[in-house]
Amino acid sequence: MYLKSLVLKGFKSFADRSALSMEPGITAIVGPNGSGKSNISDAVLWVLGERNAKHLRGASMEDVIFAGSSARKATGLAEVELVLDNSDGKLPVEFDEVSIARRMYRTGESEYLINGSLARRMDVLDILHDSGLGTGTHSIISQGSLDSILQSKPEDRRALIEEAAGVLKHKQRKAKSERK
Ligand code: ATP
Ligand code: MG
Repeated sequence: MYLKSLVLKGFKSFADRSALSMEPGITAIVGPNGSGKSNISDAVLWVLGERNAKHLRGASMEDVIFAGSSARKATGLAEVELVLDNSDGKLPVEFDEVSIARRMYRTGESEYLINGSLARRMDVLDILHDSGLGTGTHSIISQGSLDSILQSKPEDRRALIEEAAGVLKHKQRKAKSERK
């Protein structure tokens, strides 16, 4: 499984539709300060279901919508689509490509689409559950979080190791079934 493409429209500094395509292996995004590199990783987090605006470096979720510039007015909608290559069948769906999209309007309404069909956030999380990708995992490490991992308490570091070993998902499932 790998990230195949990312399309942003009205997301943070990406007012116009911007598409990035990636190959297997390492992709580096380079650019001057403030050019939108971190906004791209924010877009990946967001489309995978992030709900905490602070994790997206904003004060409120509305901050993901293009806020306007001297040259153009704000947009009313933020949209991100992420296409994952699933030819190795790592994701539990019968498609070689999985498209996950999220839209959010200024009114606060948010919707998800999986391969073009409306879906719930829960469906997105379910698809990603065993993949190691998604919110709450360490597949996306921000500039600041690396320092905090290195300085974390042993029990917090244990949680990280449990996630890497695949134990965490079972703990989460157990906690979820106990809540029911
Ligand atoms: P650095 O190299 O300093 O880490 P970067 O390339 O990671 O920079 P980002 O943090 O991705 O840069 O982008 C910051 C830019 O995005 C700022 O100019 C900011 O004004 C703009 N930006 C963030 N949110 C919005 C928004 N909702 N609407 C318009 N522009 C936005
Ligand atoms: Mg940055």
